[in-house]
Amino acid sequence: MLRIALQSKGRLNEKSLELLREAGISVEENNRKLLSKSSNFPIEVLYLRDDDIPQTVSCGIADLGIVGYNEVVERNHPVEVLQHLEFGKCRLSLAIPKYIEYPGPGFFDGKKIATSYPGILRSYFENKGIACEIREIAGSVEISPSIGLADGIFDIVSSGGTLVRNGLAEVETVMESDAVLIATPGLDEEKVRTADILMSRFTSVLRSRGKKYMLVNVPNEKIEEALKIIPSMKSPTLLPLADKGWSAIHAVVDESEVWEKADRLKKIGAEDILVLSMEKLII
Ligand code: ATP
Ligand code: MG
Repeated sequence: MLRIALQSKGRLNEKSLELLREAGISVEENNRKLLSKSSNFPIEVLYLRDDDIPQTVSCGIADLGIVGYNEVVERNHPVEVLQHLEFGKCRLSLAIPKYIEYPGPGFFDGKKIATSYPGILRSYFENKGIACEIREIAGSVEISPSIGLADGIFDIVSSGGTLVRNGLAEVETVMESDAVLIATPGLDEEKVRTADILMSRFTSVLRSRGKKYMLVNVPNEKIEEALKIIPSMKSPTLLPLADKGWSAIHAVVDESEVWEKADRLKKIGAEDILVLSMEKLII
């Protein structure tokens, strides 16, 4: 039995559970329960504050965890990062009041910076040989400059809207982050086997995200041209239609390219273009 630590509530909770669900793993979603077993996979879920996940995994109380990469780096407990999970995307950036002209990182020499990520910030400035005063605060970092607590901030940014609303401008990106699957270093063989199955299921789920299944009928003499428009993963499926002289091509395409490809296919004489959602892509 593997134990996986997930954020109990917050930005990563729902998406982590969704990933497990899409990987075919049922867990009871009762937030008042701290520990719940899956009914169809040898795993149990431990719900924690995200701050506590790296340490819990590092010392083996949980074998695996899903947490922001930013927390893994900040907490600096020895864990193995097994997989980037491509949700919870954000960056950690330095920002200063927007009316101040920014001359480069040297600006921060001797300045006060408010952050909840002192570890990452300290090593960033140490590498650059810049000495600044770090003021660690737990939340509402973005109001620090306007209340005189700091000259600038170092915080999580995703759209940048919060910075703009607080009159701040992002001046340096220090690191990019997304949710990651982490593991206790040196798991035993049986646990590694279960973790491998979990990871390959996660890979299938992540690969199918943003993909569509496209079926299109083309006159046989246009097949080659059509295959240039919709190259598939290995080679697309090509099926003869009952109507001689026509074939159907089946291919997996990026959702963002569906319309552009459909327009080009129609131009070369393709008909009956069907676009279906892709549930799983198991490789
Ligand atoms: P907890 O109560 O578990 O300690 P928290 O308040 O510290 O939660 P959340 O705000 O839920 O944390 O964010 C969890 C993670 O989501 C962050 O560490 C980061 O990796 C990711 N994230 C992605 N986008 C954002 C964003 N715009 N703001 C904050 N976190 C984000
Ligand atoms: Mg937290």
